[in-house]
Amino acid sequence: MSEPLLDPEARPPVSPADEHAMRLALDQALNAELIGEVPVGAVIMRHGQVIATGYNRPITTNDPTAHAELVALRHAATLLENYRLPECELFVTLEPCAMCAMALMHARFKRVVFGAWDPKTGAAGSVVDLFAQPQLNHQTAVQGGVLAEPCGQLLREFFARRRAEQKARRQPPQTAALPSPAASEAPEVIPTGEASELEPDPPTPHLD
Ligand SMILES: [Zn+2]
Repeated sequence: MSEPLLDPEARPPVSPADEHAMRLALDQALNAELIGEVPVGAVIMRHGQVIATGYNRPITTNDPTAHAELVALRHAATLLENYRLPECELFVTLEPCAMCAMALMHARFKRVVFGAWDPKTGAAGSVVDLFAQPQLNHQTAVQGGVLAEPCGQLLREFFARRRAEQKARRQPPQTAALPSPAASEAPEVIPTGEASELEPDPPTPHLD
């Protein structure tokens, strides 16, 4: 795994401004966690000012592209009324995936700073480094490992908690009485989830 910046000796010093921005991104990650999404947060800075924030919300919005970076990017582009954001810097708590890395380059971001490395889908050095492809014409600088420990810790705790919840759900319920043989052979009821059938539209109220 390519994580050259994990070595503190090799890691460039983090400026107070970068650390401050990453803490704001961490706050955004907590918002994602509150609604049950994987806790990843992002902020976009321009001339030292926060112009947009975003957090991961693909599940709640039924949108596979609603990663923290893209949520923030859309807000920033709308605010600036421009599809290119060459004066902007994005801070995100997790290494961007390929989709986000390309979107940030399409938007001509000046710099991308991320916290934890993502060995599974990271596209800034972990799996691939799209920012370093000489064939791709862009000027986006990238820096990883800023507040990597708290950013990664938030994700590790989230997944540990989710695994524990899934395990608890798989445990058979404790019953006071032994089930009868017939009951134990009954097929398990398959949960139907939260979706319900669409009801026909109500008849138009008759107005006299
Ligand atoms: Zn992404």
